[in-house]
Amino acid sequence: APVVVAIDGPSGSGKSTVSRAVAARLGLSFLDTGAMYRAMTWWMLANDVDVTDPEAVAVACGKPVIVSGTDAGGPTITVDGQDVSGPIRGPEVTAQVSAVAAVPAVRARLVELQRGCAEVAERGIVAEGRDMGTVVFPQATVKVFLTASEAARAERRAAELRAKGVDEATITAMAADLARRDAADSSRETAPLAQAADAVLVDTSELTLEQVIGRIAALVEE
Ligand code: C5P
Repeated sequence: APVVVAIDGPSGSGKSTVSRAVAARLGLSFLDTGAMYRAMTWWMLANDVDVTDPEAVAVACGKPVIVSGTDAGGPTITVDGQDVSGPIRGPEVTAQVSAVAAVPAVRARLVELQRGCAEVAERGIVAEGRDMGTVVFPQATVKVFLTASEAARAERRAAELRAKGVDEATITAMAADLARRDAADSSRETAPLAQAADAVLVDTSELTLEQVIGRIAALVEE
């Protein structure tokens, strides 16, 4: 069976960077499932769907055509043919994505797309998100749950934002939004953020990026 590496964890654990690097190193495809929830949210906002109304979200969620390009060297995401890789990282989408991701119909649709991406991946796939090991790929070859202390996560995120020239007030506001999003993702009823029973816990607080990548690659190569 093709290799599936399932990587879950909270925002700011370094998941995306780590997962993409592991995929590149092992010659596997890469899937950022958070980008799919963001793309769905972007489409809802662009089409005036009331994202605070779960029924409205459920009715609308079958409409957008969301396509993820899974090349670890340059992942892409389109909605109805439009590249949305920029706008899905904006504050409007980030503020609403947890509400959209809590709607079961949204999850059912995106989980199906995610499994489809794994099926067509030539050599296998590294998939990252919140429910890869628990729900989407229960039979994954390797499952990893990435964590980092609150402080390490906040510090990393702040450093990223500072490097982009974001001001301190915005950085503080974004830290609060991150905490709110993690609480929402962990407490929702459908597929909450959780460590699978058979996942390897990797705490990245005291590790370099290279150490984390090496550790996960070694688990896959075992
Ligand atoms: O990973 P990222 O922070 O881009 O994910 C954005 C949001 O998408 C998360 O806060 C969460 O609400 C949702 N998500 C999810 N399940 C996944 C991946 C992301 O619910 N597998």
